[in-house]
Amino acid sequence: MRPLLSLVVALAAAPALAQAPAVPPGEHPVLREIVTAVSSERLKDIDTHLVGFGTRHTLSTTTSPTRDIGAARLWVKAQFEQISRDCAGCLEVITPSQVFTGARMPKAGAEVMDVVAIQKGSDPNRYLVMTAHLDSRVSDIMNSSSDAPGADDDGSGTSALIEAARVLSKYKFAATIVYSADSGEEQGLYGGKIIADYAKAHGWNVEANLNNDMIGSTHGSSSVIDNMDAHVFSEGIRDDLTPEQLNRLRYNGGLVDSPSRNVARYIAKLANAYIPNFHLEIMYRTDRFDRGGDHVMFNRNGYPAVRFTEVQENWQRQHQDVRRVDGVQYGDLLKFVDFGYVAKMTAANAIALASMAWAPAPPADVNIAGALTPDTTVSWQAVPNAAGYRIYWRATDAPQWQHSMYVGDVTRYVLKDRVISDWYFGVASVSKDGYESPVVFPGPAGTF
Ligand SMILES: [Zn+2]
Repeated sequence: MRPLLSLVVALAAAPALAQAPAVPPGEHPVLREIVTAVSSERLKDIDTHLVGFGTRHTLSTTTSPTRDIGAARLWVKAQFEQISRDCAGCLEVITPSQVFTGARMPKAGAEVMDVVAIQKGSDPNRYLVMTAHLDSRVSDIMNSSSDAPGADDDGSGTSALIEAARVLSKYKFAATIVYSADSGEEQGLYGGKIIADYAKAHGWNVEANLNNDMIGSTHGSSSVIDNMDAHVFSEGIRDDLTPEQLNRLRYNGGLVDSPSRNVARYIAKLANAYIPNFHLEIMYRTDRFDRGGDHVMFNRNGYPAVRFTEVQENWQRQHQDVRRVDGVQYGDLLKFVDFGYVAKMTAANAIALASMAWAPAPPADVNIAGALTPDTTVSWQAVPNAAGYRIYWRATDAPQWQHSMYVGDVTRYVLKDRVISDWYFGVASVSKDGYESPVVFPGPAGTF
């Protein structure tokens, strides 16, 4: 017995073991439960209803009970209200609106209205906003009467929005989750502006906007069929940096580390870990080449924002009059939407929202120091309800964070023998049950 006892004493006395912080769990079975709870049948049912309104053009009527944008808005509102009844009133439903004129709007102006459900979290200061657009169009952008099914653009995103609200309404979160069905996207990103302006006017601290626009096509114009890959777009540089901040960024690096981009990295990491047969690729672009979406309006108001979209776009189906020419079917029809794929996209949104909403807020005032020394010092402000923090680093040409270290409940940490010039660094806050915030890149460029 003697040698064994002395070994125990020696282990207990070892200072390295006594100082190591207990690492919270990194695996979350409840996120798999959320992935499984998303139903492709229900998504198809929602989209079938949306297509059933004939057109959801922003300038179509608001008087018919069965056709046009007004009827579609009322139906979405009723869905949110039904979900709320099933969760003891957990959703507040509002319909913010603004009147717009513009190149794709009547001279006299027209009212554009969003339908928004708000799932209040326990922390009144934190918001996550999921968006999709309810409106649809045909070849002529001003044609508000022809059938514009918009099954993929953006019935798929709106279906994901309602299904995500239903799945996540079964849980309680720290952050508030907002589900916004925008109108006016096709006329000029007006619905995105309405909800981003509403957020700003009400002092919402939006940590991320997850926009979903065309998330259901798996048969591309190039004849490729692919139900596994998806894109998440994000801006690389914040919209609101001063010229001086931009100069430092150009010199020291960090041109690809806006909070939007780090939200995209966060989503891709989760989705690729938790969703089977799915690969979400981080795109180093704000949106598709020369094209836009409602998340841009969040960026414009200083909020991190990303766009989910299918890889296999099909331009015979997008923004087209429903017609048959030489045996080819044109138009955004329900039969072209792959709801198994929409379910994966919906799950990617839902687990990202849940994980961020259970995690503490991203750390503020993240700084690094250590030039001309072998060590790098990372510092940040303490975050309410954080159990600890994880420091990340990666090679300067690596797209995703490569390495990390849990450093416990401190607000400053020295990474020994890790030279500041050789890596990009960031820090995430961690809850006691292991939910992490997105990684925050140091300085104004990375600030949420
Ligand atoms: Zn769209």
